[in-house]
Amino acid sequence: SAKSDPILVADGVRRSFGGLTAVDVEHVEVQRGTITALIGPNGAGKSTLFNLLTGFDRVDRGRWTFEGRAINGKRGHQVARAGMVRTFQLTKALTRMTVLDNMLLGAPGQFGERMAGAFLRPVWQRQERENTARALVLLERFKLIDKRDDMAGSLSGGQRKLLEMARSLMTDPSMIMLDEPMAGVNPALVQSLLGHITALRDEGKTVLFVEHDMDVIMGISDWIVVLAQGRVIAEGRPSDIRADQQVIDAYLGA
Ligand code: ADP
Ligand code: MG
Repeated sequence: SAKSDPILVADGVRRSFGGLTAVDVEHVEVQRGTITALIGPNGAGKSTLFNLLTGFDRVDRGRWTFEGRAINGKRGHQVARAGMVRTFQLTKALTRMTVLDNMLLGAPGQFGERMAGAFLRPVWQRQERENTARALVLLERFKLIDKRDDMAGSLSGGQRKLLEMARSLMTDPSMIMLDEPMAGVNPALVQSLLGHITALRDEGKTVLFVEHDMDVIMGISDWIVVLAQGRVIAEGRPSDIRADQQVIDAYLGA
């Protein structure tokens, strides 16, 4: 069996909203270089868990490490700098901005250097050239290069998902968390998104994604974690999960 090499390890992560415990995860790990699916019924806490782990929401308690270093308490941009990025269930593309500018928003240190003073101008100008070059390579890869000067608002739902995935790669992260990347995407683009996800894994990146389509999940996941009412109720290889009666009751049969 494969040796354990977790890139992300979380313990005792809890988040309540009023009287509702949205997330109460005792322990969860994501193995480096895998595609791991996080599944569970609506309201199970999947998006909340993403928000917590990536610094977009604050836990009530819990700690987690990324690449062996504690990152609980860090904010989203610090988590991204550490190499862990995420996309959102509802895409965050800024519709009145061009596709290329949306990409550049995902780049490291976009505005900070400018504030540092004119003497740093050569530094940020070089950074900006590098960012633009990187954005164009990614737009090419995600087949959005012809749209670079179009407003993001003119893209289809599926193209926005591609843009969001492309943008998340601007910082060259080692782990990418995708919250329902296939939702509302037409079948042709679903195949394209699946190809991108497996390509990222094959390049050595780690992917954690939330998805509902069981064929998609079983087809590309190396490992599946099942969340119900905020708790991990099962995990395993796709074949194990498919055979697990508790999972079928809680999720597949629902
Ligand atoms: P999932 O992504 O698995 O569908 P969510 O993480 O979005 O589930 O939601 C988990 C639970 O937490 C749901 O009952 C949801 O209504 C609740 N919840 C999520 N975010 C908030 C919030 N900001 N305020 C109040 N309740 C929330
Ligand atoms: Mg969700």
